[in-house]
Amino acid sequence: MKTIIISNRLPVKIIEENNEYKYIPSEGGLATGLGDIYKNGNSIWIGWPGLEIPEDRQLEVANKLAELHLYPVFLTQEEINLFYEGFSNEVLWPVFHYVVTYAKYEQSYWDSYKAVNEKFANNTIKFIEQGDQIWVQDYQLLLVPHLIRAYKQDAIIGFFQHIPFPSYEIFRLIPWRNELLTGLTGADLIGFHTYDDVRHFLHTTARLLPITASANILTCNERQIVVEAFPMGIDFDKFSSLPKQPAVFKEIERLNNVPDKATHVLSIDRLDYSKGILERLQAYSLLLENNPEYVGKIVWTMVVVPSRDTVPQYRDLKEQIDRTVGDINSRHRTATWNPINYFYRSFPIEELSIFYATADICLVTPMRDGMNLVSKEYVASRNNDDGVLILSEMAGSSKELTDALIVNPNNLGDIMNAIEHAMQMPQEEQRERMIAMRAVVKKFSVKRWVDNFMLKLAEVKQLQDSLK
Ligand code: UDP
Repeated sequence: MKTIIISNRLPVKIIEENNEYKYIPSEGGLATGLGDIYKNGNSIWIGWPGLEIPEDRQLEVANKLAELHLYPVFLTQEEINLFYEGFSNEVLWPVFHYVVTYAKYEQSYWDSYKAVNEKFANNTIKFIEQGDQIWVQDYQLLLVPHLIRAYKQDAIIGFFQHIPFPSYEIFRLIPWRNELLTGLTGADLIGFHTYDDVRHFLHTTARLLPITASANILTCNERQIVVEAFPMGIDFDKFSSLPKQPAVFKEIERLNNVPDKATHVLSIDRLDYSKGILERLQAYSLLLENNPEYVGKIVWTMVVVPSRDTVPQYRDLKEQIDRTVGDINSRHRTATWNPINYFYRSFPIEELSIFYATADICLVTPMRDGMNLVSKEYVASRNNDDGVLILSEMAGSSKELTDALIVNPNNLGDIMNAIEHAMQMPQEEQRERMIAMRAVVKKFSVKRWVDNFMLKLAEVKQLQDSLK
């Protein structure tokens, strides 16, 4: 018996250099959490290797990946454009994050989404043996559970969605809404980050499909499907031990031991309209305008990681961020001080750790976020139990990190007040809040998230068998 993980991207990055492929393992949360599973035994991971591989080199890549228990689904450039950038990122992403005006309901996107989901399912089917547990990941593959079930009635299939599931009134806008839901009902266990997502999904499915929902169970052709919240965690030990590495430690000490150190505010986001970056900038601008005494006393390190820059809305957002940062810096800066240190690039994990460990305040204010790992990574990095997390109530992690300063990201006054509150918070209160949050992040690690999901999947199968 093995586990088959299916996700849009494999947990490796392939880079082409001088006509040679290099394989770099991904350090993402999912890869870390599932590492124990797919690296051991005969378990496997199926997904797109992240770039277009010409046909004559696909065998070479497949052989190399097989050594790592990874099995590629090759996509053409057209499929990447229509299935991935089109349907996944220009229909599902905006609608699921409540930005419905950004959705482009193109028939060609949908056709390609269906075809690529079939490709993933067909690539998986040949590996399935009796008793295998199949775990499908995320919104790019909503149709895969049903496609696999059609081929193998008694397959054991779990599905987890890493982004929010919207309320019925939002979801119903999608022209292909019933097909998407039918796709998911092929699963035996459907997981989301929060209970709100679970509720939205159950309600939406019961209204749109001829299916009955009671408590957290859907009954579909006499098969019971369990829907549950599994909030994803991080590798706490990794983020907590990084600041102790000699080179990282030295840099943290150097930055912390500056005389008259200004309050360091940190934000780290992928470039995305769901992250509330512009609203946060406006709140910071207001804070500086209303409090001239903060000049020189506060510095915001703002990291924006490039993402999806081929999509027009992302390009526009980038331009607006550049303009707003430039405007704030040029209006408030002095000869020796800049209110915002803005980076538009990604950083290696050691440098992220230095940012986390030296930030007095971490500002996480998304308009919508399935979970938000940055907020948890900040908490895990605070080995001295100090620092203040300001967290949007629209982030999934706000349901667990209740000792953060919770804000409504649309309320600029709320964000502004929270920054002031954080600047003035006594050490003892910081400590109490941080200790409580660290206990949560430590306990509910990504490893535990994987274990809980797999355990539940086995339980659901047993429940179904006992009802036969
Ligand atoms: N991250 C990274 N390099 C960077 C900045 C961020 O690898 O330069 C990582 C960060 O450590 C976190 C992830 O990107 O694990 C962002 O996850 P999150 O859930 O906060 O947001 P998402 O990008 O998944 O919407």
